[in-house]
Amino acid sequence: MTRVFSGIQPTGDIHIGNYFGAVQNYVKLGQQFGKDAIYCIVDLHALTNPAAYDPALLTQRTHEATLVNMAAGLDPENVILFVQSHVRDHVELGWIFTTLTPVGELERMTQYKDKASTLESVPAGLLMYPVLQAADILLYKADTVPVGEDQEQHIELTREVARRFNNTFGATFPEPKSVHAKNALRVPGIDGQGKMSKSKGNTIGVLEDMESIWQKVRPAPTDPARVRRSDPGDPDKCLIGDYHKLFSDDETIVKVYEGCRTAGIGCVDCKKMLMPGVERTLVPIQDRASALRRDSDAVRGALERGANEARAIAERTMSEVNDKVGFYR
Ligand code: SF4
Repeated sequence: MTRVFSGIQPTGDIHIGNYFGAVQNYVKLGQQFGKDAIYCIVDLHALTNPAAYDPALLTQRTHEATLVNMAAGLDPENVILFVQSHVRDHVELGWIFTTLTPVGELERMTQYKDKASTLESVPAGLLMYPVLQAADILLYKADTVPVGEDQEQHIELTREVARRFNNTFGATFPEPKSVHAKNALRVPGIDGQGKMSKSKGNTIGVLEDMESIWQKVRPAPTDPARVRRSDPGDPDKCLIGDYHKLFSDDETIVKVYEGCRTAGIGCVDCKKMLMPGVERTLVPIQDRASALRRDSDAVRGALERGANEARAIAERTMSEVNDKVGFYR
């Protein structure tokens, strides 16, 4: 059996790197596995970041994250989509797992070390983050976790936690594997300085209007070999070439490749040729987001149904876990 689980950060501020790298993959897995594709807006995890200590903002971001992912194609009728804090078993299983996990192992996590090094006072929750993540996944006995490669160490820890529980209390959990979306790391930032990322400020937002996107695309760096209009270039060495592969139809891609390599088109022409594909991809998402924004009950209703579906699975796992651990019932 395949069961997919992935956590989604509570932010409605998703960029095209998130869309092509993660959301599209969630949608595809949802079409393949239906209600065995489980997606959770991880508001409990968000609390490990001091920026989330703003109650109104956290509520709003959780709502927006749901709305934007629904608009981008994640269909709550088809998959299970819910908010982490609505299913309390995450915390309960997380606690049991903390008792099985050596502190030294958690202190070695790269993400922990990176984040902790920027803080004056490190919250214990930051150290426990990957344990809660293990609980998120194993609560549903998920065996497949679509994540970015930067999460690989946490998934390895999840396997370790599953093994430790199974060895201590008897076979209960699968050892999940991570799957990486085909183009998860390939969406370059608009500054051409590596991966698109919010912290680098080099993003194109999924909900950004076309004029604002054009203002970013127009001055974007291109293949440095094209110093003059008459110099041929290589679309494989240009971020606009990469964007064409994500947004444009085959006919346009052929024209861009040929035009660039023969200097038949200029970079501004090429950038203009990109925009129809961007519009075709993003405007329908933006229209669906606007419709959902006018109908917040649709979002709330979807999350309520999702939490009920998630709870039904989680309660079965916890009943088994509670028996195995020996809690007095
Ligand atoms: Fe990049 Fe297009 Fe210019 Fe080629 S023509 S260098 S792909 S912007």
